[in-house]
Amino acid sequence: MTLTAPLPGAPFFHYHDGALKVEDVPLSALAQAHGTPLFVYSQAAILHALAAYQRGLAGRNALICYAVKANSSLAILKLLAQAGCGFDIVSGGELARALAAGADAAKIVFSGIGKTRAEMLAALQAGVGCFNVESEAELETLSQVASASGHVAPVSIRVNPNVDAKTHPYISTGLKGNKFGIAHERALAAYQRAAALPGLRVAGIDCHIGSQITEEAPYLDALERILDLVQAIEAAGVAIGHIDFGGGLGIDYAGDTPPAADALWARLLARLDARGFGQRPLIIEPGRSLVGNAGACVTEVLYLKPGEQKNFCIVDAAMNDLPRPALYEAFHRIVPLRQPGAAATPATYDVVGPVCESGDWLGRDRALAVQPGDHLAVLSAGAYCMSMASQYNSRPRAAEVLVSGAQARVIRPRETLHDLMRGESA
Ligand SMILES: *Cc1c(COP(=O)(O)O)cnc(C)c1O
Repeated sequence: MTLTAPLPGAPFFHYHDGALKVEDVPLSALAQAHGTPLFVYSQAAILHALAAYQRGLAGRNALICYAVKANSSLAILKLLAQAGCGFDIVSGGELARALAAGADAAKIVFSGIGKTRAEMLAALQAGVGCFNVESEAELETLSQVASASGHVAPVSIRVNPNVDAKTHPYISTGLKGNKFGIAHERALAAYQRAAALPGLRVAGIDCHIGSQITEEAPYLDALERILDLVQAIEAAGVAIGHIDFGGGLGIDYAGDTPPAADALWARLLARLDARGFGQRPLIIEPGRSLVGNAGACVTEVLYLKPGEQKNFCIVDAAMNDLPRPALYEAFHRIVPLRQPGAAATPATYDVVGPVCESGDWLGRDRALAVQPGDHLAVLSAGAYCMSMASQYNSRPRAAEVLVSGAQARVIRPRETLHDLMRGESA
């Protein structure tokens, strides 16, 4: 990747007279006003990403259920709810967040392999649109919980199409030997069981093959396998209803070029039409591709520490704020808020945080011309960053700001020391 590669998040993140801006707001002004580390999101970038899916699915009976775990900030959930989205949730906590943000419960699908009875009951009482069931044991428990509380639970079964999403093993979910979903070969028996259980109503079928998928082929393969299954299950007498195709579309971290959502859906819809499934209600569950490139984390350079083997650029954001590099060795572009002058000579640094772990790094071998006090932006930080953030090392979680045009609004203040110890007793 060259330094001239387009910025992930462009044109919403862009340089203007040498200063990095989000929409019309210089990031340095936000760092000044709100301190660092600071997560900054572009509303226009989120709506732009959503619009690609909306275009791709225009005229179809399709529901876009944003995967809350990618970024669960209430303001972002509310923005997406108001834009017509439903939500894909994976816990009772996410259910509460989605409802607090104004979600229509009927547009919520509840995924996850380990739903507790209490979570099932809360979701039944809220009236969620569908439970995406991930094991045969879960079918039995959900039927019991529903019957005992006077509900009938709408279900789809998450099937594992056994395709390789060609992504990081930790975010590949559609292969055999992975903890998610029910094996393709077991799907028919599971549907027959679901149809027979008194507390359940079969509403659809579901799959989700992985995340940060940058190729079209795994999606097309998965679709054929799902459609084969739908035909087999319906031939056996169980009507399937909707097809939920999950999420997983990748974003640009390091010059990645995933298919555009509208182009991808044009291809997938052509296959659905060709196989006679054009009228099926569809659900999709995008997370990362709606918010990932819409966010950045602004951080201040604290110290430069030259060494024999490595130079370290120590910044005030860390693995507790941005866990993806530590967790998946993920790459994020790291760029200065102010472009260096032509005379500046960059050095090569590992950009690391203050946390007491060697795994606490944000970027390796990065060419930077920086001094202590300068600010950097870690790009593509809108998904799976703040939602994964922790207080490890007793570091209060960062603030979050949502920008729209020239307006910037704090959507979550920086945690205080009081927040750090809330509820504890000595
Ligand atoms: C995480 C997840 C998603 C969203 O995945 P992205 O890669 O962020 O689009 C969708 N569905 C399920 C079941 C998930 O676990």
